[in-house]
This record gives sequence, structure tokens and C-alpha cells, in this order.
Amino acid sequence: MKLSFYGADRCVTGSCHCLEVCGKKILIDCGLQQGRDEIDNRSLPFAPNQIDYVLVTHAHIDHTGRIPLLVKNGFHGEILTTRLTAELMQIMLLDSAHIQESEAEYDNRKGERAGKEPVEPIYTVEDAQNVFRFVSTCEYGETVALCDGVRVTFTDAGHLLGSASITLEVSENGLTKTIVFSGDIGNVDQPIIRDPQYLKKADYVVMESTYGDRNHTEVWSYTDELAEIIDETLSKGGNIVIPSFAVGRTQELLYFIREIKDAGLVKSVPDFPVYIDSPLAKQATTVFCGDLHGYLDEEALELVKDGTHMFSFPNLHLVETSEESKLLNMDTTPKVIISASGMCDAGRIRHHLKHNLWRDNSAVVFVGYQGAGTLGRRLLDGVESVRLFGEEIAVRAKIVNFQGLSSHADHDHLLSWIESYDPRPARVFVVHGDADVIPAFSAELETRGFATYAPLYTASYDLAADRELERGYQPEKKRTAAATLADDLYSKLLAAAEALLELVRSKKGAPNKEKKAFTKQILDLIEARR
Ligand SMILES: [Zn+2]
Repeated sequence: MKLSFYGADRCVTGSCHCLEVCGKKILIDCGLQQGRDEIDNRSLPFAPNQIDYVLVTHAHIDHTGRIPLLVKNGFHGEILTTRLTAELMQIMLLDSAHIQESEAEYDNRKGERAGKEPVEPIYTVEDAQNVFRFVSTCEYGETVALCDGVRVTFTDAGHLLGSASITLEVSENGLTKTIVFSGDIGNVDQPIIRDPQYLKKADYVVMESTYGDRNHTEVWSYTDELAEIIDETLSKGGNIVIPSFAVGRTQELLYFIREIKDAGLVKSVPDFPVYIDSPLAKQATTVFCGDLHGYLDEEALELVKDGTHMFSFPNLHLVETSEESKLLNMDTTPKVIISASGMCDAGRIRHHLKHNLWRDNSAVVFVGYQGAGTLGRRLLDGVESVRLFGEEIAVRAKIVNFQGLSSHADHDHLLSWIESYDPRPARVFVVHGDADVIPAFSAELETRGFATYAPLYTASYDLAADRELERGYQPEKKRTAAATLADDLYSKLLAAAEALLELVRSKKGAPNKEKKAFTKQILDLIEARR
């Protein structure tokens, strides 16, 4: 009865854990390592053809993105997940494969000119299509006998449509243990999906800790605030550009905009046009419009029963081709444009930013977390101009940060989630949190009487004996170009400050009037930058 850790260890992407029991190897998630967390997405730290089962908590790429690689390298077991995760996963893995293919193509075009050997994509669209030969599905609450000695149950984790915490009851050599993998634990009171269901019984819990150091800010009326910004911007003749993640967040926005239209909250243009400019978002929305029984919160189920469509309203347009997308920027009618990627680092959103950032009557509304070093983060930090498609674009549009929506439980809700176990689990394995969050959150759990273990990458643990087998290691973080640029800019800023100090020192004998004026200039600068 051995548990090994192959991802999301002291970082927040690449989720992958392996339970060895009853002669079987069972993976729980197999996600892509993203951004700063990337160690090596091309190879897996175990033999793919030795894995018997993959259990998938939810469809996000940081939990599923290496499954096509697993299949490409010889996996031929069973992949089990909820019905809706399977549907969303199909869309997301195909999209991820497209990205892998086009990145390799781009690298190869550049590499060829530099005389380099061509690289292969991590996996292809065909590899992603092959995944679905191995997928079988179940519903929440249904207990599945995976093999002799292993029973599995998926419970609603309230994080994304179809998302689950997974409970495994395993019996080996006369010993029975219950192990819960939390998956990503959802926030409370989100639209559409249900609150996370609390579990009561486990010997061991493998728990995420993304927001282990923070609470979400007070929830206010999302629809009122959003309506106000839309109203204000449209009345000035500008556009509202919303960078959004295609799966989950975009559907929430549609849900809110339908409420805004139903209640007539936008007075200037009640029938304002809304464009979803993301083929992935369009496909995902069709899953959200399918058979959702067993997956929705009560309010949303009521809407389905009434025949009211949760995500559609008059003057909603789904943009398919990139030609249609470009035409949007020719059309001068004020509108709402929702497009991906959510952090503005890729995709069609960059065109919409190019055409709207410089306009002082437009608004850019951020509705999700913006990672360090991303274009989205820089805009929130108040940069005065950005470079897009080789052009310097001034930032004059209103930049708004909507922090009200998070699909992750915050610090207090994570604690209530783990404290609902009765009796307490023998040990909590703390994963899926940043390197500085995991030790702090583990220490807090310890003070509350939990025994914890925060694994390093490739660590393994004997569950029968409750002891560490292998320590694992902390991989070097890959430095991104953005991080290098940020460091470089900071040293330039420091150098400029030192030059200023030198200039100040040279003014010792200058006329008093000049000294006074210079002091004021510096104090004004400090005040403006504080
Ligand atoms: Zn997630």
C-alpha cells in the first residue's frame, strides 16, 4: 500500500499521484506542469504501460494534460471519471493537443533557420483522440468496484462542472484503509454548480491547498457591479473586453449577463450585444447545455425545468472563425467581448486588447486570477503601454479587477473541509499549493491536531506502516522569460534610483530655490508611486 507523488508537490500544477495496492497501480490525475512549475512535461517519472487505472478528479489541464502522453507511451488500462468531466476533458485535451502541435511547428520553423534538429510535439491531436478509447464514466455517489480489493466513489467537489473528490476503499493483506483525494475543492455559493460536499470518513487524505494562506474578499453583488461597468462603458460608446477562461468562467459570465438582461440592469443599451470569441468556450458551453441532471445546484436545475436557458439571451453571438473575430474590430457598435486566454498570454483576446486598450472609452474587466509575469498581471499593475503584435499600444482603457469569482475554496473553507472528518484522518498529505503556502498551511493543520506530510516531487509513502519510503526532491524552477525581464527591469530601476541619489548629492551648493523645487519633485514622485 504505497502512495507516490508525481506532481503538484509544493506547486500548483501537474497534479499526479500514484497508489499501488492489490498488485495494481492507480494514478489519480495526470496533469500538465504549467509556467514556472514545469519540470519536464515530455517524460513521465514512471512507466506508463505499468499503470492499470487513471482516476480523474476534473477536466482542468493541470489535472489531465499529460493523459495523452501516457496513452502515447503505452498506457492501455482504464480511465475512470464522472460523465461530465469526460465530456469536458475531450474538448480540453483536443485543444491542448492543438496547442502542442502549433508550438512545435513554431519552434521548428525558427529552429530550421538556426540549423537545429526538429522537435516533436509532446503529443498530437491523434494521441488526444486515442485517450477516449480507454475512458469509462460513473455518476456522483456511485461506488465502483475497480478490481479485487479496490472500491472507488466520486463525490461532488463543487469546483467545476463534473469535478470530484475521489474516495478509495482498499483492502490488502487483511488491512482496509480509506484514502480520499480532494481534487480541487470548490468555493461556496458559486453560480451553476453545487457547493463542495463534505466527506466524513478517511484514514488518509491527500488535500489541495491553493488558497491555504488567503481568504477571498467579501462577496458583493456581482451582477450589479458588472451591470454598472457595462452600462457606463456602453453609454460612452466603448467596448467591454473580458479576458476569460473558456471552460467554467465563461459560462458563469453568460449566467450573470442573462440575469443582468432579465432584470434590465443596463439602462443605456438594454439589448447590448455580447460576443463569445473563443471556439473552445463555444464547445464547452454546449456541454453546460447538455444533460446536467445530478450535476447542478437547485437554482440552476429550476431554470432548466422552466425551459429558461441558463446561458443564452437575445443578442448573444458565438464567434467561430478568426475572420469573424477580426471583423468584430471593424464593427463600431459598442459591445461586450468575452475571449480567451484568461491571462491574455495567447489567443484572440490579444487582438481585442490591441484594438481597445488605447481607447479611453473602453474597459477591460478581469474576472480571474492573473499569474505573475502575465500580460493580465501587468495591466492590473498599471503599465502605461504594452507591446502587442510588434506595436506599442498605450493603455488608456479603464482596467477593472473583479475578484469576486474564485472556483477554489479559501483558507477558512479549506479548514472546514478537513475538519468535517470524524474521526480525524491518521494523516493529511498537503499538495497543490505554492512552495511558501504548503509549509505554512501544514503547520496550521498540525496546531489543530492533524498529522501532516508535505511531499517533494517523486516522494513515496508506505500507507500500511504510516512512514516515508523515499524523500523525493525539489526540482529547479524553470525561469520564464517574463521573470528574467522583471528582474532586469528591477535592476534598471535600482540603477536609476542610485543615479538620482548621486544627482541629489551634487546639489549641495546649488541655490536654495533649486534645492526646494527638486525636493518637491522627488516627494511628488514618491507620492504618485506609493
Ligand atoms: Zn481545477
